[in-house]
Amino acid sequence: MNIPQSSNPRFVIIGGGFGGIALAKKLRDKEAQVVLLDKHNYHNFQPLLYQVSTGGLEPDSIAYPIRKVLQGYPNFYFRLANVVEIDTVKKKVFTNIGDINYDYLIVATGSQTNYFGNKGIEAMGMAMKTIPQSLNLRSLILENFEQALLTDDLHARDALMNFVIVGGGPTGVELAGALAEIKKGILPKDYPDLDTRRAQINLIQAGDRLLPAMSEVASRKAERFLEGLGVNVWKNIRVSDYDGLHVTTDTDVSFDTATLVWAAGVSAVSIKGLDAKEFLCRGNRLKVNQFHQVEGFKNIFAIGDVAQMESEDFPNGHPMMAQPAIQQGRSLGENLVRLIDGKPMKPFVYRDKGSMATVGRNKAVVDLPKIKFQGVFAWFVWMFVHLYFLIGFRNRVVVFINWVYNYVRFDREARLIIRPFKKQNQVERNKLMQD
Ligand SMILES: Cc1cc2nc3c(=O)[nH]c(=O)nc-3n(C[C@H](O)[C@H](O)[C@H](O)COP(=O)(O)OP(=O)(O)OC[C@H]3O[C@@H](n4cnc5c(N)ncnc54)[C@H](O)[C@@H]3O)c2cc1C
Repeated sequence: MNIPQSSNPRFVIIGGGFGGIALAKKLRDKEAQVVLLDKHNYHNFQPLLYQVSTGGLEPDSIAYPIRKVLQGYPNFYFRLANVVEIDTVKKKVFTNIGDINYDYLIVATGSQTNYFGNKGIEAMGMAMKTIPQSLNLRSLILENFEQALLTDDLHARDALMNFVIVGGGPTGVELAGALAEIKKGILPKDYPDLDTRRAQINLIQAGDRLLPAMSEVASRKAERFLEGLGVNVWKNIRVSDYDGLHVTTDTDVSFDTATLVWAAGVSAVSIKGLDAKEFLCRGNRLKVNQFHQVEGFKNIFAIGDVAQMESEDFPNGHPMMAQPAIQQGRSLGENLVRLIDGKPMKPFVYRDKGSMATVGRNKAVVDLPKIKFQGVFAWFVWMFVHLYFLIGFRNRVVVFINWVYNYVRFDREARLIIRPFKKQNQVERNKLMQD
């Protein structure tokens, strides 16, 4: 990998996501050599992926070059590398561009879409975890409408304009809201010769309420907002299969659709060599102690979605969200500095700053530790928080300007088919693209 030997200890970080970047920032100018490996050369701000999928934002406004984050960090090396294996005995990481030894290893690989073993949905459904996947979804949505114009078969046309989103968490809710706004505000103008009133947005939730990780009042309000926008909310229904057209469920409800978006679960990205049963908890997360050390190791740490730190307050680990990843990255960074200085590490304490989701224009739900609110003010809070946590001044300005423009003009101008999407087996496609 062409990384010089150093008299300082070498920290290898796998993953430049929320956790990896927060950690890296803490190690700047310290007596350590830091090597950051990521299979993408950019940080992906996942909370706004749904806006890329629905033409509200261009992908480059939610991605940020990792090399730019590390500019001016003298002790840092970034390598664009896909990590495939870890040898914990030889203290070595194997990647598609070569291998590298570590003194300390930090796993911050995040999570991936979990299909719970359903091969049909994995092959024919759409995921929204990466920027390429979001662009695929954007193209598919737009191509469906172009195709709907061309067919005289009413059933086929309805299927092209029927969207099924599986999973009533923030991703599903936000995507359903955005599609409903497109149906109302954009489709009739873009496709005057198509009866776009027949377009359907179906949001399917296996449990008895949307946003199950938020308060009951947030769930109720989000559902009301969505229904107001014309979204069909289906609860207590499990999708069981999808063949590219027909969606079956565990009830007698079924759908015909050209687009099924799977937002119903994630599991941690584990890496060979550190994927034995004794290290892993539910959802493939690595079991860590209160210092983020992976069970059984003093020199291997895990943070973010991939780490499970069990405590009385969080028996299943912290939520797989950006805030825990950022806080864990910062805390581990400070602990690694203490380690270099020969001082004892401090246990991690998670400060819950709340959670939020937006449903659409002027509509969001916010649960803060002491107060819960919904509606217009919540929507402004949601926007402010997302702008604040976006990485990069340019990205913040571009996103802000886009939002103001979209708000004033009731528009989403990034509805472009830049990369035509041909629906095919997604398993093969993802393998080719290494998503
Ligand atoms: C659509 C969507 C919406 C979301 N909305 C919200 C929200 O509104 N609020 C919120 O708090 N959270 C939200 N989340 C969750 C949040 O994005 C994650 O919890 C957060 O990104 C976790 O941070 P992380 O550092 O653990 O992993 P990530 O940010 O996912 O970073 C992992 C990094 O590891 C790299 N990587 C993975 N495997 C390898 C490998 N083998 N080799 C090299 N590099 C590798 C990846 O390329 C990536 O850069 C959302 C997630 C999604 C998908």
